[in-house]
Amino acid sequence: MAHEFVYSQPVKIFFGAGKFAKLGEVLEELGVQRCVIACGKHFAPTAREMQEKDPRITAVFGAVEQNPQLSGVAETARLARETGADAVIGVGGGSSIDTAKFAAAIARGDGSAEDYYYGRKPFPADRLTIVAVPTTAGTGSEVTQVSVVSNGTEKKTINNPVFMPRAAIVDPVLSSTVPPRTTMNTGLDAMAHALEGYWSKNHQPISDLMAIEAVRMILENLETAYKDGSNMEARANMAYASLLGGLSFALPKTAGSHACSYPLSEDYHLPHGEACAFTLDSFVRINADERLELLCRRVGLSGTEELAQRIAALKELAGLRRRLSDLGEVDLDKLAHDCAVHGLMQNNPVPMDEAKLKAMFENLK
Ligand code: NAD
Repeated sequence: MAHEFVYSQPVKIFFGAGKFAKLGEVLEELGVQRCVIACGKHFAPTAREMQEKDPRITAVFGAVEQNPQLSGVAETARLARETGADAVIGVGGGSSIDTAKFAAAIARGDGSAEDYYYGRKPFPADRLTIVAVPTTAGTGSEVTQVSVVSNGTEKKTINNPVFMPRAAIVDPVLSSTVPPRTTMNTGLDAMAHALEGYWSKNHQPISDLMAIEAVRMILENLETAYKDGSNMEARANMAYASLLGGLSFALPKTAGSHACSYPLSEDYHLPHGEACAFTLDSFVRINADERLELLCRRVGLSGTEELAQRIAALKELAGLRRRLSDLGEVDLDKLAHDCAVHGLMQNNPVPMDEAKLKAMFENLK
């Protein structure tokens, strides 16, 4: 029986192969007259070609990197301000989308990017429209009000309605060029979103349904997308699963594995998806309960142990780091402490203190 809940999802989603070609129509529908594109190196040449053909695209910030920096946000906001843009389009993985979201939120403010990053100023009421176009199948950032941005080595997640895109264009064709290892990292990030949204203390029935379907589709398609990136059916299914993963954690928020991913990225430089996957099978075992057993049966697995083993096998297949020894010299006390104090750990259904986390990591020796 459904307990009480509030559900809302304001992003208009355009999904399908070739949908990116409709960007112009989407901009028209949103009333966008001038816009800036934020993207990484892989998409920058295409963005510049688009700029030559479409006078509405006033500038391109094409240097977004993994774990995007606040300086890139500030530069994108400056370009938007100086060219009179009324929208920022993020095309790329989560890094590009999060850069676009933050830049759109602050472009019309009178403070510096640091002022908003450190909460010294409230976000301005007047903001630019955000359009998110994912080119990886993982983060679900196109449907969340989260922006994850780093200032130097400090990586911060800011959760604020100002970051909610107006529209998302999810075109699986854009993900066909993602290299195999990034395909696995991002696919396991989507798996973490679905599982953590499902077992989060704030889980709710509509999000649960999407989580179950996302887990099922990832189990059925990630290995194929990893082994054969040109398989468009697997890519499309992963793009859809990633979208569902985003929707399944957007309200409940993530939990233990994401909490642990921050120190693993900051101190041991694991890409986001790999960092989430590092502890995901451990948390499947830690959080195993009747609800998780039900999810497993609904996705065709015998139970939680099989789910943990399937996740471990996917990590092994792609050669992702899985053991503490893969991280180099590890300060276990600091790692356990930093994971324990991360805010998302509070969402984990099983309370995890420093001692329990240390024991979990010791099992990964
Ligand atoms: P990413 O955006 O950092 O991209 C990874 C790499 O893949 C980059 O080098 C990028 O240039 C390249 N790439 C992207 N698309 C490509 C394509 N189609 N072909 C070839 N190369 C391509 O990786 P990501 O995993 O998508 O995003 C990770 C970031 O998103 C992290 O900072 C993470 O914290 C954040 N995140 C945000 C949310 C959210 O809700 N805002 C959710 C999860 C993660």
